[in-house]
Amino acid sequence: MMKIFTYQPFYYQKSALKFLVFLLIFNGCKSVQKQLQGNSSEIVNHQEDFMYQYSIIDALMAGVFDGDLNMAQLKKKGDFGIGTFNRVDGELLMDQGHVYRVSYDGSVKEVPDSDSTSAAFVKFFKADTIIHLKGNLTYEAVQEQLTEILNPNGIYALRISGNFATMNTRAERPAKPPYTTLPAHLKVNQTVFNLTNTTGICDGFLLPPYLARTNVPGFHLHYLANDKKAGGHIFTFTTSSVTVEVDIAKGFTIENNTNAEFHNVNLKPDRGAELRKIE
Ligand SMILES: [Zn+2]
Repeated sequence: MMKIFTYQPFYYQKSALKFLVFLLIFNGCKSVQKQLQGNSSEIVNHQEDFMYQYSIIDALMAGVFDGDLNMAQLKKKGDFGIGTFNRVDGELLMDQGHVYRVSYDGSVKEVPDSDSTSAAFVKFFKADTIIHLKGNLTYEAVQEQLTEILNPNGIYALRISGNFATMNTRAERPAKPPYTTLPAHLKVNQTVFNLTNTTGICDGFLLPPYLARTNVPGFHLHYLANDKKAGGHIFTFTTSSVTVEVDIAKGFTIENNTNAEFHNVNLKPDRGAELRKIE
């Protein structure tokens, strides 16, 4: 069941939740917290309500840049999500069952089913809640407000749509073997795009701290302009209004990368600090 409410930000008030809100709820007024903490019986119970991920972020960080899962197979695991491709050839965004690649030159193309990924995080997207945020918003402010509303231990797919006065993203040039680490590769092979007055969607996930080392804890979103002429991994944005569709996952599934490099890579080191630098 989808519910909609509007959240007006009050930066100067510590406890913004208390001042929520215009609730536009189809079946009567309930508190936001109550709604989002969820009553498990209210949450749709089906297999597709799990997040699926191929490979893990620490393997990608360590230079496992190839995988064996193609887009046809990935689409069986979800219709929405983010990731990258083999050789880290650009940023992956999946929306409504279509997979797009944002390349280092800024171009966006729909990807053939035969292309493969070295790391991808997807879900069948069905919004449980819609949140409207208004004000002088930065990406950080949107994160803060959503963090106040959502459960810190939850797994959420987020689809944020709006017009963005500024949008800063990146995409990377494909690597050539022998591969280096992801931070070392990005250092010299990432292009940063400074978009202005762009309308589109930010797709991705808000994940809890306990998923660190397998995925990116916190917010991880990729952008796709509605005209499909720009996008990438999001660093920052500014906006005056966004609509946030929130899909609560019941859990997650990890499929190991079967590429030989995955079996050889050293996954003992904690790469969290390095990860925060490149995200
Ligand atoms: Zn990314």
